[in-house]
Amino acid sequence: MRKNDNACLVCGKPLIYYTKPQLMKCHFCHQEFTSYACCEDGHYVCDDCHSKKGIEAIISFCLKTGSSDPIRIAQSIMEDPFIYMHGPEHHTMVGAALLTAYRNAGGEIDLKEALTEMHERGKQYPGGSCGFWGCCGAAVSVGMFISIITNTTPLSSKTWGWSNEATSRALAKIASYGGPRCCKRNSFTAILAAVEFVSEKMGIGMEVPERIVCTFSDENHECLGKRCPYNQNYQ
Ligand SMILES: [Zn+2]
Ligand SMILES: [Zn+2]
Repeated sequence: MRKNDNACLVCGKPLIYYTKPQLMKCHFCHQEFTSYACCEDGHYVCDDCHSKKGIEAIISFCLKTGSSDPIRIAQSIMEDPFIYMHGPEHHTMVGAALLTAYRNAGGEIDLKEALTEMHERGKQYPGGSCGFWGCCGAAVSVGMFISIITNTTPLSSKTWGWSNEATSRALAKIASYGGPRCCKRNSFTAILAAVEFVSEKMGIGMEVPERIVCTFSDENHECLGKRCPYNQNYQ
């Protein structure tokens, strides 16, 4: 059984969002953070505690699969009960699925090292940034992926351009569907943009399915339904 997740991890009640950050104490690690979201009863779970088990699931799956299809890799990871419907673990998952498929399609990287770096970077990108910063973490995860496979730094030239362009292409496509946010829709969209980008710039062909059908629509209260390109009733 998957958990439903516009819901509190502690009590299952719906989350509420503030427009200004509030001081909150994490239910699990008891550290204080400023955050925009808690549940109706005031439970707050920090990004680290929210993602911990999910990140372990991401890394262990990526290290054992031989697939060069990042969509299938992401879909398998999403089935893990610790990957919630929405959440910042997707900021690591998108890049991790891409790194894995890239390596399995012939890209020359040390996958374990790359996944560790992906986690280091992905975990720094806050949940909710799509709405609060205007830049979805799934798109940023694509930029991180390109940066990692090309060893890009702020001083790089060509690949500095690639990293930023890759994020922007993924973000533009994500934006084109409108909100509310969906971490599944945004992940699939970001991955497709990245696959196209890598094929074009680096000549490495990762596989993608002919049609992506999302199996999470019923769990997402804000699903766009038939307006989502991955919805089974999409027209
Ligand atoms: Zn609660
Ligand atoms: Zn915590």
